[in-house]
Amino acid sequence: MSVISHNETKNGPKKAEEKPSLYASHIKVYPQRIAGTFRRIKWLTLYTLLGLYYLVPWIRWDRGPGAPSQAVLIDMPARRAYFFGIEIWPQEVYYLAGILILGAIGLFLATGLAGRVWCGFTCPQTVWTDLFMWVERKIEGSRNKRMKLDAGPLTLEKAAKKISKHAAWIVISIITGGAWIFYYGDAPTMLKEMLTGQASQTVYGFLFLFTATTYLLAGWAREQVCTYMCPWPRFQSAMFDEDTLIVTYEAWRGEPRGKAKTDDKIGDCVDCNLCQNVCPTGVDIRKGSQLECIGCALCIDACNSVMTKLNRPLNLITYDSISNQNARQEGKPERIRLIRPRTVAYMALLTIVGGIMAYGLLERPRVEVNIQRDRSPLFVTLSNGDIRNGYTFKILNMLRRERTFNLTTEYVDNATMTVIGINGRDRKNVTLKVGPDTVGTYRVFVKAPPQSLKAESQNLEFVLRETGAQSHVEVDSTTKFYGPKK
Ligand code: SF4
Ligand code: SF4
Repeated sequence: MSVISHNETKNGPKKAEEKPSLYASHIKVYPQRIAGTFRRIKWLTLYTLLGLYYLVPWIRWDRGPGAPSQAVLIDMPARRAYFFGIEIWPQEVYYLAGILILGAIGLFLATGLAGRVWCGFTCPQTVWTDLFMWVERKIEGSRNKRMKLDAGPLTLEKAAKKISKHAAWIVISIITGGAWIFYYGDAPTMLKEMLTGQASQTVYGFLFLFTATTYLLAGWAREQVCTYMCPWPRFQSAMFDEDTLIVTYEAWRGEPRGKAKTDDKIGDCVDCNLCQNVCPTGVDIRKGSQLECIGCALCIDACNSVMTKLNRPLNLITYDSISNQNARQEGKPERIRLIRPRTVAYMALLTIVGGIMAYGLLERPRVEVNIQRDRSPLFVTLSNGDIRNGYTFKILNMLRRERTFNLTTEYVDNATMTVIGINGRDRKNVTLKVGPDTVGTYRVFVKAPPQSLKAESQNLEFVLRETGAQSHVEVDSTTKFYGPKK
C-alpha cells in the first residue's frame, strides 16, 4: 500500500501554487434565454421602469412666470426640489426623509409578501443587467455560442462582436447617465448644452461618472453586485416567514432525479440543468434557497417548459409559500395568507407615515420663520435704562406671490420693536412684506424696561400673522431675551 504525504500528490510533490486560495475565482455566468410567464412580467417591468426613467424629465409643468416648467426637478443652484405640484425647500428636507422611510417600509412589506420581488424584477441593477444581457444575446448569440466565442481564439469575427457589444453598452450607459443629469436641470436646455459642448465641466464630470458606473455595474459586475456588494440580501430573510412567496424547488416531488422515469421511485426532475442555465446568478435552485438567488423566477419558466414537454405536472420549481408547499406534499388544502401580523404591521406603518406626510404636505403654511439672536453683545443697556436685544429675523415665503405679515411679540411685558429700514421708532407691531418665492431678512431690535425682566434670561415669542390672506396663517417662534444678572 502506498502512502501519500501531505506535501505530495499522486503526480508528484505538491506545487506551491496548488495551495488552496482564500479567494474563489470568478466563474462567468452565461444565462440562457427562456420564454415564459415570469420572463414576460420582467420585460413588462423593464419597459415600464426604463420608460419612466428616460421620459419623466421631459414632462412639462406650468408653475407660472419665473418658475421652472419641468415636472420633476432637483434644482441645486436654487436649492429647491419640484415634484409636479409639490415644491420642497431645503428647510423641508424631512419630506425627502419621509419618502425614504416610506420606500423602506414598502420594501419590507413587498419582501414579507413576495420575497425578493424587488431584487428580481424592479431593482435598477437587475433592470439594466437584463437590458445589457439582451444586447449581448443579440450580438454574440445564444448561450452556447457565447461560451464558444469566449473559449475560442481571437479572430476578426470575435473582435468585431466584442467591439460592437461594448459600443452598444457604452451608448446605453451614456443615455442612462445623461437621463440622470436631466433630473437636475431643464432637460431640453441641458441636452442642447451637452451636445454643443456648452455644458459645465461638472455636468460632463457627472455624465462620465454615471456612464462609467452603469457600464461597469451592468456590463461587467452584473450578478456580483447582488452577491458581494449589495447589503439587502443579507438581512431580508428576517422579513420572511413560512407564508412569504419565494422561489423554491419541490425536492419531495423532484428527487431522486433521473433522465428517464423508469419507475415510481424516480422523481420528476430529469436533471436537464435548464433551471441553472437560465439563472442570471448561476444558482442551482435544487440545492435550496441561497443568498445569490435574486428571486427572478426565470428558473420556474425554464422548468415549466421542460415539464410541459414531458407532459408532467407544472411547478416543480414554484413561486409559493413554504406552508403551501408542505400542504401540497401532505395532500392538505393550500391557501395564500397575505394578511398576517407582520404584513399588517408594515401596512399600518405605511398608512401612518403616508398619512402624516400627506397631511403635512396639504396643510403646510408655506411660510417659515428662522431667528438668530445676537450673541455679542447679548444685550445692550440704553441711556434711559431700557434693555435691548438684537435679532436677525428671516421669513421664508414659499408662495409665488408677495405676502404681507404683521409681527408682534409676547411674554416680555411692554416690549417694543424697531426693524431697520421699516420703522424708525419703537412699536408694538410691525408690518413686513416679503416678495414671491423669496426669503425676507430683517434686523429686529426688541426693547423692554428693566422691570419687565423677571430673570437674567426669559422667553420671548415672535408672532407672525399674514394679513389680507383668505386663509389664516400664523407662525409662533420662541427665542430668548437677555438682561443683566438679577
Ligand atoms: S435560482 Fe431561479 S429565481 Fe433564483 S436567481 Fe436563479 S433563476 Fe432567478
Ligand atoms: S429545469 Fe426542472 S427538470 Fe430540469 S434540472 Fe431544473 S428542476 Fe430538474
